[in-house]
Amino acid sequence: MRPVQKSNKLNEICYEIRGPVPEKARLMEEEGHKIIKLNIGNMQPFGFDPPDEIVHDMIVNLPNAAGYTDSKGLFAPRKAVMHYTQQKKVANVTMDDIYLGNGASELIVMSMNALLNNGDEVLVPAPDYPLWTAAVSLSGGKPVHYVCDEQQDWYPDIDDMRKKITPNTKAIVVINPNNPTGALYPDEVLLQIIELARQHQLIIYADEIYDKVLYDGVTHTSIAALCDDVFCVTFNGLSKSYRSCGYRSGWMVLSGENKKYAKDYIWGLNMLASMRLCANAPGQFAIQTALGGYQSINDLVAPGGRLLKQRDLAYKLLSEIPGVSVVKPKAALYMFPRLDPKIYPIADDQQFAYELLEETKVLIVQGTGFNWHSPDHFRVVFLPNSDDMEDAFGRIARFMEGYRKR
Ligand code: PLP
Repeated sequence: MRPVQKSNKLNEICYEIRGPVPEKARLMEEEGHKIIKLNIGNMQPFGFDPPDEIVHDMIVNLPNAAGYTDSKGLFAPRKAVMHYTQQKKVANVTMDDIYLGNGASELIVMSMNALLNNGDEVLVPAPDYPLWTAAVSLSGGKPVHYVCDEQQDWYPDIDDMRKKITPNTKAIVVINPNNPTGALYPDEVLLQIIELARQHQLIIYADEIYDKVLYDGVTHTSIAALCDDVFCVTFNGLSKSYRSCGYRSGWMVLSGENKKYAKDYIWGLNMLASMRLCANAPGQFAIQTALGGYQSINDLVAPGGRLLKQRDLAYKLLSEIPGVSVVKPKAALYMFPRLDPKIYPIADDQQFAYELLEETKVLIVQGTGFNWHSPDHFRVVFLPNSDDMEDAFGRIARFMEGYRKR
């Protein structure tokens, strides 16, 4: 029989968060090793349970959730999303503009599939949450990375973004709050992005899944709230703010007056939404209770809250390692530390992640897995409790000491 090969479409795709290094970790676990997983923003295994009321609501509704729903989703959760967008001050969103999905991930892929012809370009941040680069490539598009500037708290470099716009550019992706850097963008930065989109007639795709995971009293502005005209597509969901990623429940909202010029695109979106029939119905049922219920995420990020304490501890422990520097995240669940290349001359950061795993049993993700251009960063989550984090970062510190002595 002929060898069965993967499609060429996958040649450019990378998703290292669940890539070869985590696969090695899985094999090590099978051999009996205990691995500390700092590679993925999966909250429940670290004891961050979803709010009881969401779980209760899903259980109660389970008997009514066996049928397909409308392909855009059930009425009540979409109404709840509509109300949420109103709270976020996004204007003129109707029920028709709201799509529910199996997590934001499904909708991200759908939004790119409906948009891109071969060779169309999309501006994607570097570093990015790699699903975005992958979704653009899979859809036949060309991801063009604009740099986020570590010296400027990881804000997007607007000049770089501007330089990379060509006649083929269709859209700009903005991940705010950001994964992997934990940055939260101020309104001035968002307004500059909007101005570029306005001038060049680009769509803004705004991934705002961490919009409630905020530290130090900062607030989040939805980029769609800052412009009435530009066509924006905003993504959010239950995975992070409600610790419910396994329920696979997310949404996508279309806004901006210019959506009147996007009827054909919206037709395509509707067709793709119909083709996958609907998002899982139990996950849809959870949305209304989540958005309307007690916002326990606020307790986790408030002074004394577990996430805030762990963010501070991770920042301290990483900053203490010689040659490691990190911008303190204002939001989300991640840090993206820099390894000074003079002290750690790493040529291949995947190899670095393998060695770290083998020696310390700690799993991280190398920076190039986030489409970062040089092998001098890595990403960790600060989800383990304080004792486990002391243990994990202690192991990383000892490994780095050994690396310096090589
Ligand atoms: N967008 C970002 C920036 C993420 O970090 C993640 C998950 O980590 C997702 C989207 C995926 O979210 P969901 O679980 O809703 O598919």
